[in-house]
Amino acid sequence: MTLRLDDVTLTYPDGDGRLTALDRVSLDVPAGTLAAVVGPSGSGKSSLLAVAATLTTPDEGRVVVAGRDTAGLDRARKAALRRAHLGIVFQQPNLLPSLTAVEQLQVMTHLSGGAVREARGRALELLDAVGLADRASRRPHQLSGGQRQRINIARALMNDPEVLLVDEPTSALDHERGAAVVDLLVTLTRQRSTATVMVTHDRSHLDRADRTFTMDDGRLTVLGPA
Ligand code: ADP
Ligand code: MG
Repeated sequence: MTLRLDDVTLTYPDGDGRLTALDRVSLDVPAGTLAAVVGPSGSGKSSLLAVAATLTTPDEGRVVVAGRDTAGLDRARKAALRRAHLGIVFQQPNLLPSLTAVEQLQVMTHLSGGAVREARGRALELLDAVGLADRASRRPHQLSGGQRQRINIARALMNDPEVLLVDEPTSALDHERGAAVVDLLVTLTRQRSTATVMVTHDRSHLDRADRTFTMDDGRLTVLGPA
């Protein structure tokens, strides 16, 4: 089991009380599996990814990433765990405007203290894997929304993570380009044996996932193996 959440509850301060963003959520995602979580805006999808990414500590419950229980890890150890084992695709691509596509990927190696020049080969290989081999020298403003999203995904794979977390990858794309991005996630999940969690408010992409869940008011329910 590559990603596991056991009975995770997360609350946020809300006026005089607390808002329950995740209500005893349990989830396990084996290697090579794409789990899709669908739910309306405000249902807790991004909170789920933040907890799985060890960016937010839950009030209760257990988060196990790549076989490591994250309870009690300090900030530095969590950061090291993220760099070594997690790929995170945030909803906003946050590409650096002045860098080319290949450099966007090499930055990840720089951040984890690796040799940037040697990372170029891997970056080019990943750009090829997401269908952008011929766009390596383009800067973000010279790319379409779908192409930027592919770079966002390729960047998250630079450190060869076991777990890939993807927040609303299709929200800025039309249906056809959105479907192509989901197909790409399925292919990468298989090829790289990642435990992938994709959250979305768009039910139309669910049929491509191995496991599907709904999120409602912080409660996660199994929809099924497709
Ligand atoms: P989704 O991604 O499904 O839109 P979120 O996980 O972003 O849902 O939010 C779930 C609930 O938690 C919402 O009611 C949202 O307003 C609230 N929330 C999210 N982040 C915070 C925060 N940092 N502080 C307080 N409330 C938050
Ligand atoms: Mg969200």
